[in-house]
Amino acid sequence: MGRRPADAQGHRGGVSGSKHDQDQPFTRLVTGGRREAWTGAVVNPPVWRASTILFDSVAQLRAAVKRNQDGDFYYGRRGTPTQWSLADALTGLEPGAAGTMLYPSGVAAIAGALLSVIKPGDHVLVADSVYDPTRVFCRQVLAPMGVETTFFDPLIGAGISALFRDNTRVIFIESPGSLTFEVQDVPAICAVARGRGVVTMIDNTWATPLLFPAIAHGVDFTILACTKYVVGHSDVMMGSVTTTDTYWNDLRKSAQIYGQVVSPDDAALAARGLRTMGVRLQQQGDSALTVARWLQTQPKIRTLLHPAFADCPGHEIWKRDFKGASGLFSFEFTPDVTDAERCAFVDRLRLFGIGFSWGGFESLALPVDPATIRSATTWEGRGLLVRLHIGLEDPADLIADLRQSLEHVVA
Ligand SMILES: *Cc1c(COP(=O)(O)O)cnc(C)c1O
Repeated sequence: MGRRPADAQGHRGGVSGSKHDQDQPFTRLVTGGRREAWTGAVVNPPVWRASTILFDSVAQLRAAVKRNQDGDFYYGRRGTPTQWSLADALTGLEPGAAGTMLYPSGVAAIAGALLSVIKPGDHVLVADSVYDPTRVFCRQVLAPMGVETTFFDPLIGAGISALFRDNTRVIFIESPGSLTFEVQDVPAICAVARGRGVVTMIDNTWATPLLFPAIAHGVDFTILACTKYVVGHSDVMMGSVTTTDTYWNDLRKSAQIYGQVVSPDDAALAARGLRTMGVRLQQQGDSALTVARWLQTQPKIRTLLHPAFADCPGHEIWKRDFKGASGLFSFEFTPDVTDAERCAFVDRLRLFGIGFSWGGFESLALPVDPATIRSATTWEGRGLLVRLHIGLEDPADLIADLRQSLEHVVA
């Protein structure tokens, strides 16, 4: 068998091995999930397309029913080496994690994490700045189950304990919020939650474990819309949930009960994206800062909503807890700029696509309106917002494009 990095031989099941943890994150991106049992002599695991998996005997089939770990062939719904390898690599990025389940989208991962611990009659606390579909899930699925949601100010920190009830089960965090970019005091929230036996979950899509290893900061469940930076090429939908020993069996069972599985072809594409996530994130984060600093000097732009800017709420926490910034931020026009001007500005951009999602190699621009999707906090008296995702283009070209559109529409 071919020579491969020793630490890629690794551990079993969803359990992250210590060999893995000793390397830096960029190294783990390269070696993660590449166990010889799954790859054979080649570098990557093959794409194993499977529904039926055949056994040598009835006795072997019966034994397989009882085992239930990544690495145990059973039936296509429980995956094959292609999916196991990706899940394993994602687990390896989160020191302290026990395992990862994959879902067909980020929204499915959010739903899957919540449904793995919540039961009728529970109460959940959700950050007011959360991704809107998370809010819709609380309203349309949890509420009819008899689960009440209280939205909290993302800047609440340890003060969240004042919102605890006897039946509070989960705190759902998203830091920074992906429209308005407030950074939350995750360690403080997790400390008070742990003291009360409340489970913490974070939508960590903006930072990824590279910029914010959430489990090491005290979070119980960390969720990624892999659609964004993990896939990185705007061609696959996927989500993941990574958790600790305490919750791993429940998460796994719950995902299996709901029938969650991702296709091996999508898993292979996501694994390909993951290998380069570090350099993409670094470049896109740097370019985003360059673009944001230029925007800050423009007369019709009032505020940059970007955690690296000193006036971004939670900036000090970001400096304390995060290893950097990714490529997504918003900016606020001065109040005299109208919605028609804002839309004309976006329409006139040449290098920025208009559309949902982000995290791919290409830049995107989107008008966003947080005022309509808040309940615990307000967003009044503010200028109109545009959210930018900065891709891998040359930032000088992106700035030139932004300049021509600003000059034409709002100057
Ligand atoms: C896009 C996104 C999701 C959902 O991911 P999908 O794969 O599109 O379902 C969840 N959270 C955040 C912060 C996102 O930006």
